Amino acid sequence: MTLLDECLSPHVAMPQRDHIRLDWQQPYPALERARSVAWTCWCRATVYELYEGAGRAFVRRTIQLDSGHQVQETFSWPINEARAIWTALLSGRAR
Ligand SMILES: [Zn+2]
Repeated sequence: MTLLDECLSPHVAMPQRDHIRLDWQQPYPALERARSVAWTCWCRATVYELYEGAGRAFVRRTIQLDSGHQVQETFSWPINEARAIWTALLSGRAR
């Protein structure tokens, strides 16, 4: 893979057959001031970011399309729960 040297951020693993299915929603404005604290590599068409703010966190999914970006987000959870979900997402146990 030629891009390997340029990829500093993780890539998500293939989803496992029994993975947790996250509920992806239109972005919800209540946590707008949240900041991105982790993200997957932008070399993939679908990029995931973990946002934290005010003791809560959620995951944003951006699908990079030729016609523009499609952005969806999960509900927010307490930060510790969201970090566990983030780990599951990266390893293919949630998507
Ligand atoms: Zn990459």
